[in-house]
Amino acid sequence: MKHNINHLERLQSFRRELHRNPELAFHEYQTAQRVKQLITEANPTKIIEGIGKTGMAFFFESGKPGPVVAIRSELDALPIEEINDFDYTSSVDNISHKCGHDGHMTMVSGLAEMLRENPPEKGTVILLFQPAEETGEGALQMLNDEKMKDIKPDYMFGLHNLPGKPAGQILSREGVFASASIGMIIRLKGKTSHAAEPENGLSPAIAMAQNVEMLSNLVTEVKDDLNDFSLITVIHARLGEQAFGTTPGYAEVMGTIRSYQNEDLETLKGKATDKAKDIAHNHGLNVEIDWTEEFSSTENHPDCYAVVKQAAQNNNFDFKVMDEPYRWSEDFGYFTQKYKGAMFALGSGENTPDLHNPDYDFPEKLIPYGLNMFMEIITLTLENQR
Ligand SMILES: [Zn+2]
Ligand SMILES: [Zn+2]
Repeated sequence: MKHNINHLERLQSFRRELHRNPELAFHEYQTAQRVKQLITEANPTKIIEGIGKTGMAFFFESGKPGPVVAIRSELDALPIEEINDFDYTSSVDNISHKCGHDGHMTMVSGLAEMLRENPPEKGTVILLFQPAEETGEGALQMLNDEKMKDIKPDYMFGLHNLPGKPAGQILSREGVFASASIGMIIRLKGKTSHAAEPENGLSPAIAMAQNVEMLSNLVTEVKDDLNDFSLITVIHARLGEQAFGTTPGYAEVMGTIRSYQNEDLETLKGKATDKAKDIAHNHGLNVEIDWTEEFSSTENHPDCYAVVKQAAQNNNFDFKVMDEPYRWSEDFGYFTQKYKGAMFALGSGENTPDLHNPDYDFPEKLIPYGLNMFMEIITLTLENQR
């Protein structure tokens, strides 16, 4: 696929405009408008907006029967203050594109112009934009939206840029691509009293420590009940207040559970809940357990994985089979539970700052890689599948 220099230059300035104007999860209104404006110029046959709040779907229909293939991008930025100092630095305090979703949007939006020049000969191509990937809520909210009934992809593909890997390298695998994960919050309630009279209160101090230990050891302890890799990281704990005159009456412990397999995540959720309740009970404390930021595991369908691999080879890109799934989670997992799909990582360069770091910036040299991968994936999917 040849690229017209003007197209790439335009996409570069589009990316910078998105970078300069980042918006947080479920607030991506201006971002969505910018994407819509660019794609509309390529005359999509149909547009559906406001899916799961700010999500959008742009259709390029051939008018002939055939598969429906969707290419997905995220719209959201992160609550991180940018420390870079270039002319397109984030103009919003404490918000910036530190996951490269500005780059992902640019690549998926850039497909519109290529589809205008090379329209699908059969079937339908959908460019799909989702809100709130970072909080793990956007894909699910789209899937729960009535409007999604009019968008029935047979196949769905997405990518994530990946610092630490050679720029332009394509990495993927069949089966689990990225882990399932969930945040657990254990709240312990006892009773405060004067620090001089702890016997008149009920401190959750020991129970808090036992919960930290319980979560830290749980995966090892129940390993016979797990099928595959899992990990629990205690991320926060708090006891009472910084008041030397008070016996604490409240504590909380938070941890992130992650598993390659959804089933193992469910097992760990159950065991952690039982044990947290037992600990509270043994100390006569009240306990509340809350869950947040749940992600399903992202599973690559064998047919879709084969298409990704073939697309990389047809483009003569460096393709690498991942030995293991990624430990991080991706909202794309909700889509792969419902549709056949596959995700791949696109190396961002070995010396690029990591994702979510304050100095990260999406490397624009990746744009042609994403465009060519997706165009080849679209062609192969429309040709091969009937
Ligand atoms: Zn991210
Ligand atoms: Zn991301």
